[in-house]
Amino acid sequence: MIVRGKAKKPVYIFIDNDFAEIRDASKLWGGKDVREATNLLKEETKDPNTQVLCIGQGGGENKVAYASINVTIHNIAARGGGGALMGDKNLKAITVRGTKGVEVVDSERFSGRVSTLFKKMKEAPGVPPLNRYGTSSGMLMINDLGAVPTKNFTMGRMDDVSTLTGQHLVEAGYLKRRVSCYSCPVACHRYCTVEEGPFEELILVDQNLRLFPLLVLDAILKIHLW
Ligand code: SF4
Repeated sequence: MIVRGKAKKPVYIFIDNDFAEIRDASKLWGGKDVREATNLLKEETKDPNTQVLCIGQGGGENKVAYASINVTIHNIAARGGGGALMGDKNLKAITVRGTKGVEVVDSERFSGRVSTLFKKMKEAPGVPPLNRYGTSSGMLMINDLGAVPTKNFTMGRMDDVSTLTGQHLVEAGYLKRRVSCYSCPVACHRYCTVEEGPFEELILVDQNLRLFPLLVLDAILKIHLW
């Protein structure tokens, strides 16, 4: 999909199977964050399976150079400043609803091939730990490599990352749910909760910015208010 030009006022692109139109998004602009806007747009389409690419007020709408695009709230296209591009076009969101599936010429052969590849991917080196412990299963290795963003990227290592690993999340009972993008055998997402006490986000807030004293590195938290 290529979006050319720029709308005169805030809009969103609505796609429902073969139908597409540009709709007014004035009520979403300058007042609704990604979560609120996404939920409102999903309500409008009356289908909870509608997917929504959306920009936020602070980043995208203000054309911050590194603004991201959120995909149905939790997944984020965070590189390259795509959110700023959408903001510049006054494009708050793109909603997509599709129910027709994809036609395949030889469905039997296709399904067989998909099953084989799915199995291969699941067993590929590196995938089982990602599947079991999520992205943070690599924290020890990343720290050893000196690649943990620390103190505004001036350093690359922490003294101890053991409490920031996916393994710790599981063992300490913080893990609530494993989640996957559609049809992905890796399923690397983790939803965790910290019921009480201090917590630390994985790296990019606490560790990188050193906003809080490193008192208790007790858990990784997806800060989003899911
Ligand atoms: S679940 Fe799969 S597709 Fe989604 S981020 Fe993880 S590895 Fe990538």
